[in-house]
Amino acid sequence: MRIFYETNHDISQKPSSDEYYPASKLKRVTVILTVKTVITAFITCIMTKPIQIELPLGTTFPSVNIWLIPGDEPVLIDAGYRLPESFDLLKKGLAENGYAISDIKKVLITHEHPDHVGLLPQILEESDASVWCHKALAPWLQDYRSQEKKTFAFFDIHLEAAGLPKLILELIAQGAIQRSLNIQVPDSRLRCFDTGDTLSIGDFNLEVLHTPGHCVTHYGFLDEASQVFFGGDLLLQKAPFPTVREDPDIAGKRYSGLPDFMKSLERLKALNVNKIYPGHGDEITEINPLIDRQVHRIHQRKEECLDWIKNGQKTVFEICQKMYESPNFMLQFAGAMMIFGYTDLLIQEEKISVSYNDKKEMIFEVIVDSSNARPVSR
Ligand SMILES: [Zn+2]
Repeated sequence: MRIFYETNHDISQKPSSDEYYPASKLKRVTVILTVKTVITAFITCIMTKPIQIELPLGTTFPSVNIWLIPGDEPVLIDAGYRLPESFDLLKKGLAENGYAISDIKKVLITHEHPDHVGLLPQILEESDASVWCHKALAPWLQDYRSQEKKTFAFFDIHLEAAGLPKLILELIAQGAIQRSLNIQVPDSRLRCFDTGDTLSIGDFNLEVLHTPGHCVTHYGFLDEASQVFFGGDLLLQKAPFPTVREDPDIAGKRYSGLPDFMKSLERLKALNVNKIYPGHGDEITEINPLIDRQVHRIHQRKEECLDWIKNGQKTVFEICQKMYESPNFMLQFAGAMMIFGYTDLLIQEEKISVSYNDKKEMIFEVIVDSSNARPVSR
């Protein structure tokens, strides 16, 4: 599978120093860039603007977006979260823009999380829409419950390894059962694509980019002509936590989400897009400063995490209690996901090691850098 940061928008192909731009060429480059900016602005003006339909979520983020691409064959990007009022709110949002559910021809999915696929069963029931997704998402959309079952079994092992108390595990399991979705998109209505493919959606020609991190099967869609990006949960005003999933390449191993998330953000930065239509919140135009702030914050929190390990906190849950002091179990759960991420980064940086105790909990230890050790005086 070709992944996001290996697409042909490779940052390494760009000149890395001034020597590629001698003074005589600078003027020409500036003119070319200005012309490109004007053309992009013109294209953006004449293109149909995606319409944001915000649906309630009621958790960490207040709402989730469905983006409507208007046109003769209207398309939805993502399918919201299933709450009792959500489907009526979607219909209302469509009606305000002159459409009914039955008009929808395609639903394009960024990733499998329940807040992005929740209304698929109702949408499919009341329309002839087909569901467009990356081939890696097909098993989820064909039989959501069986994928969820596998994921939760994997989840249990790793949440126990995090040292989370049984009560939190039970509350998480209860919540998951309540939210459980019965999605079974028949093959006749499922259209799968691959990374690097281009999808013709309204006025947009969307290139499929693999944007792993928040989850391993996360995809974004880039329109090169207008430099807009449908980003799912890659870049939000508040960074999403990496979810616990099995590594697709190594059975039984947990996928390290946060290190991949950082790479995806860097890759997004190099794309220099003008606008992002995110999975949550309003469209984003101040993109690179937001990425810089999030990357900085993640490194800062990672260092705090290291300090707590130095201080004697040894499990994910022990660190979590120090870094996320909250009685709210959902916040503790989200915090634990972030600690998985920070410790994954620290392990990659060889600052900590991990072993397992007899309760199969992960125990972190600081790696003492012998090269920094003070010489023994004689
Ligand atoms: Zn989301």
